[in-house]
This record gives sequence, C-alpha cells and structure tokens, in this order.
Amino acid sequence: MDIVRHPQTGWIEVITGSMFSGKSEELIRRLRRAQIARQKVQIFKPRFDTRYSDDHIVSHSDMRIPSQQVADSKDLLEQVLPETEIIGIDEGQFFDQDLPGVCNQLANMGKRVIVAGLDQDYLGKPFEPMPQLLAVAEYITKTLAICVVCGNPANHTQRLVASQDRVLLGAQGTYEARCRHCYDPELSKAGPAPV
Ligand code: ADP
Ligand code: ZN
Repeated sequence: MDIVRHPQTGWIEVITGSMFSGKSEELIRRLRRAQIARQKVQIFKPRFDTRYSDDHIVSHSDMRIPSQQVADSKDLLEQVLPETEIIGIDEGQFFDQDLPGVCNQLANMGKRVIVAGLDQDYLGKPFEPMPQLLAVAEYITKTLAICVVCGNPANHTQRLVASQDRVLLGAQGTYEARCRHCYDPELSKAGPAPV
C-alpha cells in the first residue's frame, strides 16, 4: 500500500477473479492481519450464500473467519458500528447495485473496505456490481486459478451442470477453473454432453 498521510483516510480494495482463484483466502489473510494488529474489524457476506457455513467465510482450502450475514447493501451499512476500522465483504457479486455507493460512503467515513467477488458470471460476462466497484476502488488485486484441463492460468469459471440461472450455488463438481483456451461458454449453458 502507498504511504497514507491523513489518519482518517479510508479506501476501497477489491480482490477479484474466477472461482478457485484464492479470493476468499486473500480476503481472510488481510482481515486476519488487521485483527492481529488489534484493529476493529467487521466481516459480512450476503445472506443466501450458505454453501459451507452461515456464520463464517470459508475458502475452498478450508480457511475460515467468522462473519455476519446481511440481506443487502443497505442492511450492511446499517450493521457497521461507528468504531469499526476495517470492513471485509465476501461474494460481492451477490449484492445489489447499491454496493459501490455503500462502499464509497464507508471509505469516505475513514474506513478501509475490502471486497472479494467474482468478476465474471458463468457466461464470461461482467458480474454486476463488481465492475462498478472496480471503477471506484483504490486498489485492485486480480487473482487467477489454475486451469484443470491444461494447467495454464485460469481466468474463467466453467459451469459443468445444465442451468441458465445466473446464480447457481456450487456444490462439489458444479464448477471448475479453466483458462481462456479451455473455457467453453456453450458448455456452461448446456452442461456436459451425456456419455
Ligand atoms: P475463491 O474465493 O476465489 O473461489 P478460495 O480462496 O475459496 O477461492 O480457494 C482457493 C483454493 O482453492 C486454493 O488454495 C486451492 O486449495 C483450491 N483450488 C481448487 N481448485 C483449484 C484450481 N483449479 N486452481 C487453484 N486452486 C484451486
Ligand atoms: Zn486450459
């Protein structure tokens, strides 16, 4: 990070990339360091992301940190305590369009806001509100997974089951990391051919 001159200055950090790229691990790493430094931290995730745990952020590698569930970005803003210095938010792509405005408001209040989220959906399209958040963030970290087909850096999330829902919470085998070459958006729409 750059040297911060004004003690009350807040900012927005975004960690973004495909599934399995290490976004949650990186978010947890930053939040743990803040907790070790005895900074006041609050951690949020959207209410319907209950894949692994409803009161923790959990990475695919089973790193975990306690979190609060919120219904939407307005609820998140209301839950932030005045003394909180650092705000962590996971699964930013599952929030509404007000998330960038709420993050801006919190950063303007002097808080450090760290958001992790998918940059693209299963069709490779920008996943709102992450693009809007990227535009207003001071710091952006793009994470890449490893393509499970060829081993190249993977920037895509391949859906392996037939569904055209934008939000399809992933159980084991629902998604895998693929590179540009091995990613197939048509397969994402239709699921794998029957064998
Ligand atoms: P994200 O939040 O971006 O989905 P996580 O932080 O939850 O990612 O998980 C990252 C971890 O996922 C890695 O450290 C590794 O243990 C595991 N993983 C599973 N598949 C892959 C893959 N194809 N490439 C890289 N890591 C993978
Ligand atoms: Zn590949």
